[in-house]
Amino acid sequence: MLIIKSAKLIQEHIEKLRMKGICIGFVPTMGALHEGHISIIRQSKREQQHTVASIFVNPTQFNNPSDFEKYPVTVENDIEMLEAAGCDTLFLPEVEEIYPPDFVKKFYDLGYLETILEGAFRPGHFQGVCLVVERLLRLIPAQVLYLGEKDYQQCMVVARMIELTGLNVQLKIAPTIRESTGLAMSSRNRRLTPDATKAALAIHEALTYLKNQLTTGTLNELIAFAENILLKNGFKIDYVSVTDQKLQLIDNWDGKTPLVGLIAATIHEVRLIDNMKLTGTD
Ligand code: AMP
Repeated sequence: MLIIKSAKLIQEHIEKLRMKGICIGFVPTMGALHEGHISIIRQSKREQQHTVASIFVNPTQFNNPSDFEKYPVTVENDIEMLEAAGCDTLFLPEVEEIYPPDFVKKFYDLGYLETILEGAFRPGHFQGVCLVVERLLRLIPAQVLYLGEKDYQQCMVVARMIELTGLNVQLKIAPTIRESTGLAMSSRNRRLTPDATKAALAIHEALTYLKNQLTTGTLNELIAFAENILLKNGFKIDYVSVTDQKLQLIDNWDGKTPLVGLIAATIHEVRLIDNMKLTGTD
């Protein structure tokens, strides 16, 4: 695997590949890699001729400085995992490569996506996500960008950013990979104590409850019950929400609209998010 740290060199490398007509899949990450990330790398490997991963803990998307400081960094292990998965190129920049002194921040009109759910609890977060993903895609103009459904709202935000900027890239969304217990894999899980890891299963339990108990009509009681599962396990809840696929809140279900359940909650100072399609077979 080729490891490139400089913005200029990655641009030149990708340019050469594109000149040869090679199809590139790009998988941006913040490192502390787990099987969820690696499954996306494998998908890109299956579907594209050349897979590029990036590892960059993006300061502009952290609204909480202590979350940024505590974000796990495991670069050596990450490199081993990427090599084992057959990743072709890793872009591993320092902050100055992504945000040089002459970098001009811009504002993305994300509409309602900016202020709901994660947007409401993490002000500015999605502006930071757009900033870094646009910058990365300008350096790595891949044909296909791979993101994980685990960050459902992020996928929608990035789709909007692609629309706004006119970047010529296809977005593919990879399924969420879970531990055998149902806990969605996340870099932040490393910060959970063994007790908190057990309690964290309540997130999947609450989502599964929403899915299994869903009936037409008002959803208030259903949501209150799911909240209770989290509270009983020591979580502080940011939201337990049921929405349509575009993330519009649904409080009364017509029995037809495809629904998604989304949860954000904190246990032992670790904030976790997860989501599940509540209708259909997956
Ligand atoms: P992150 O390093 O957390 O920024 O994640 C990098 C990419 O991996 C994002 O597109 C995430 O949505 C995706 N991802 C994170 N966790 C998982 C998971 N458990 N399953 C599948 N994809 C994931």
